[in-house]
Amino acid sequence: MRPLVWFRSDLRTRDNTALHEACRMADDGVVGVFTICPEQWKEHDWGAVKVDFILRNLAELSRSLRRINVPLLIVETPKFDGVAEELLELADRHSCQALSFNREYEVNEQRRDEEVMAAFLGSGKSVHAWSDRFILPPDSVRTSSGDFFKVFSPYRRAWLARYKEVGGAEPVPTPSGVKKIDVKADKVPKSVDGFDGLTRPDLWKEGEKHAQSRLDAFVEGRLEEYDEKRDYPSVNGTSTMSPYLTSGVVSARQCLAAALEANNGRIDSGSKGAVTWISELIWREFYNHVLVGFPRVCKNRPFDLDTEKISWSKAEKRFECWKEGKTGYPIVDAAMRQLAKTGWMHNRLRMVSAMFLTKNLFIDWRWGERHFMQSLVDGDFASNNGGWQWSASTGTDAAPYFRVFNPVSQSEKFDADGDFVRKYIPELEKVKGKAIHFPHADGDNEDCPDYPKPLVDHKRTRQEAIDKFKAVKGK
Ligand code: FAD
Repeated sequence: MRPLVWFRSDLRTRDNTALHEACRMADDGVVGVFTICPEQWKEHDWGAVKVDFILRNLAELSRSLRRINVPLLIVETPKFDGVAEELLELADRHSCQALSFNREYEVNEQRRDEEVMAAFLGSGKSVHAWSDRFILPPDSVRTSSGDFFKVFSPYRRAWLARYKEVGGAEPVPTPSGVKKIDVKADKVPKSVDGFDGLTRPDLWKEGEKHAQSRLDAFVEGRLEEYDEKRDYPSVNGTSTMSPYLTSGVVSARQCLAAALEANNGRIDSGSKGAVTWISELIWREFYNHVLVGFPRVCKNRPFDLDTEKISWSKAEKRFECWKEGKTGYPIVDAAMRQLAKTGWMHNRLRMVSAMFLTKNLFIDWRWGERHFMQSLVDGDFASNNGGWQWSASTGTDAAPYFRVFNPVSQSEKFDADGDFVRKYIPELEKVKGKAIHFPHADGDNEDCPDYPKPLVDHKRTRQEAIDKFKAVKGK
């Protein structure tokens, strides 16, 4: 038996169910494969920063696999619809009688996997699809009547109850090696045509080893105070594990196991920092649960169908100002510049900038969702869509439409001394005191002649947004 392991968003050798099981069933070696689908990736709005991160991790994965005698092959085909044929042909060429992969849950990915499974089964091969991307399979947590949850808190309670019943933090063993076979690994490309733009290998170092040490440093240091510090963008208070989780360089199980170890095995008691962080991992599971239960969110539709009647603005110039960090609201602008420079944005600021786009500029949340996806190194469909629909008040358990963040008070609260704003907006260097939060509040501020005037008035646009929501949702 020689299985083919198909790597996708699980670029690791440790705690990888598909790889582990393939090595267990093999008695004549294992072949690994990764499919590069540039057109599909473009359609899915992957950005250069994410593609570069994947390729660098793929090269590391190939090296790690070589140590256990698994050659990694690379197949390139423009779109998902070419994958089944390519993989089957490759399996035949290398005498692989089985396919092993970890499930993905987005609509197009599921369709692709069904085509691949049908092709393999149709040619007499076996297929082994594993649940590995989450601690608990997205469809395994249900309400008492068997439905999918629409609100996070009861989902979290049910998730914890299920976890206590079945467990799920135990990583699977790392394969120690399989029989060497006469198949040569492919060279991993350093770039893919069409994905030019920002790359930040200095910030987002590749490799499982690095991901593990990043996780260890967080858990041993900042986890304890996570609940107190996670909302302050100028403080290094969060884990920055998101790119590694999205591309599967580390597993959610490994993250949970590390947090449990630091919290004496307790999942919902003990250190407040650990409990809060574990809840964030559960948010990740929740948004994927929503995607599986309500696949319309994968099709450009809001979760809350009432909000489909909203006619969003298509003001392109304002959208450009938002993208470039030139709205005249420093916290929003600093956030957008952080995204453009690093490929990542602090969670508090993702909410603030998304709410500004959707409530103050009243621009279609799908435009913002797309721009984030194109710019983020951790771009993940479910979390990004969930975050955008939360901010736009169109989603599950979304921010109520009448509760609109005030970007100035958000800045006063979460960046009180303006350290974060100053770091990303050099035009505000000379602005002193509280004025940093809204420098042109009283007309022109001579300390920052180059910094833009506010694009809109918060109070007025907030009320207009509330009125538009009221019109479609009633009181
Ligand atoms: P930590 O605070 O250390 O949290 C640990 C992990 O928990 C994260 O790495 C992430 O995997 C998960 N997590 C944390 N918060 C959330 C959340 N609100 N929803 C889902 N999972 C969460 N996260 C992404 O991974 N990819 C995205 O494309 C993405 N887009 C977002 C868009 C918007 C508009 C909003 C409001 C949030 C988005 N998030 C996204 C969620 C969150 O902002 C990031 O996961 C977080 O900022 C990553 O930083 P961290 O690893 O330091 O997180």
